[in-house]
Amino acid sequence: MYRIGIIGGGQLGKMMILDGKRLDSFFVILDPTPACPAHSIADEHIVASFDDVDAFHRLAEKVDVVTYEFEHINARALQELEAEGHKVYPSSDTLLHIQNKFHQKEWLFSHGLPVPKFLPVKSVEDMEQAGRKFGYPFVLKTCTGGYDGKGNALVRRPDECASGWQQLGSGALPLMAEEYVPFIKEVSVLVCRSVCGDVKVFPVAENIHKNSILDETIVPARISRSCQEKAMEIARRSVQAFDAYGMLCVELFVTGEGDVLVNELAPRPHNSGHYTIEGCVTSQFENHVRAILGLPLGSTELIRPTVMKNLIGTEHKKAEVSGLHEAYSCGEVKVHIYGKEMVNKGRKMGHITVTDKSADEALKKARYAHSKIKF
Ligand code: ADP
Repeated sequence: MYRIGIIGGGQLGKMMILDGKRLDSFFVILDPTPACPAHSIADEHIVASFDDVDAFHRLAEKVDVVTYEFEHINARALQELEAEGHKVYPSSDTLLHIQNKFHQKEWLFSHGLPVPKFLPVKSVEDMEQAGRKFGYPFVLKTCTGGYDGKGNALVRRPDECASGWQQLGSGALPLMAEEYVPFIKEVSVLVCRSVCGDVKVFPVAENIHKNSILDETIVPARISRSCQEKAMEIARRSVQAFDAYGMLCVELFVTGEGDVLVNELAPRPHNSGHYTIEGCVTSQFENHVRAILGLPLGSTELIRPTVMKNLIGTEHKKAEVSGLHEAYSCGEVKVHIYGKEMVNKGRKMGHITVTDKSADEALKKARYAHSKIKF
């Protein structure tokens, strides 16, 4: 029996376990929240903070391989585990190169991968210099810890440099400036690399965000064949450049000129890859588990056009799901509920997936089901 440790017990960990259980694997999670989404199906749960290095060691001792479901963890602690002979995938080196957006962009750039222009920012003067170089607007970003757009500020004019600087903590966290990309679409490519060497690329997903949070994913992405090929080739090259194992998500901007630029990477299964559960022959979660166990990867072929729509919380209250009867009135609708106790504004509570004859048809049904489900 395979024994797998997951740092993080959120919905991504939960979906990893759901798929990994098909191989009868034994799962231990580490998460500070006693009732986290993966708690109900994990074999063991170490309730500990993500800074608790001792708990990382306790986890590693119980399993054959350690993985993680989010990237904001102590990479040095992972390094210690590796030094003691534990297997950690993706490795601490991969995580260190990705965790900091500035290092990530430098690494991509040095490997010839296309990225927006960027500069480090250590002062308001650095921002003014970025404004002169990139023009306005440009984007100020924290290099670490950002998610769902938290950690980004749009700087529209020279006199907004000081307020942008303050908004992102006045330099308490490392910052960078990035040229504003007037993209026509945001897409992502999930790519997986097994410890046995196998590499598989999933079809390009088109992502629509609302308030910087992923709202809908449409597959196949409605972009030209040549853009799709460029995006998939960038993903293939990225997984090699970062020597990454397991799932890697490459988020990209598609510009009006048909260029493709990397926005950012995530070294794990990703929200924009949830469509693979019903849409592809093998899901991102199954392939992640296979990859870290050194098994050959499953086919990533798209079975039918697929749409994923997130169920996002709108207010703070206790979670209680309603509307499933109406949502399930179309047989193509699949609902995923993550099992979070509390709803919060902007919190990902679940998602809906529809596979159908066409993406348009799937989108219609996903939106209908979405309008019926309430938390
Ligand atoms: P996070 O790590 O919080 O997801 P991202 O850096 O991916 O943050 O940015 C969130 C969103 O902000 C992106 O999905 C995109 O819509 C927008 N964005 C980020 N960088 C740029 C940029 N350089 N130009 C234009 N829009 C951007």
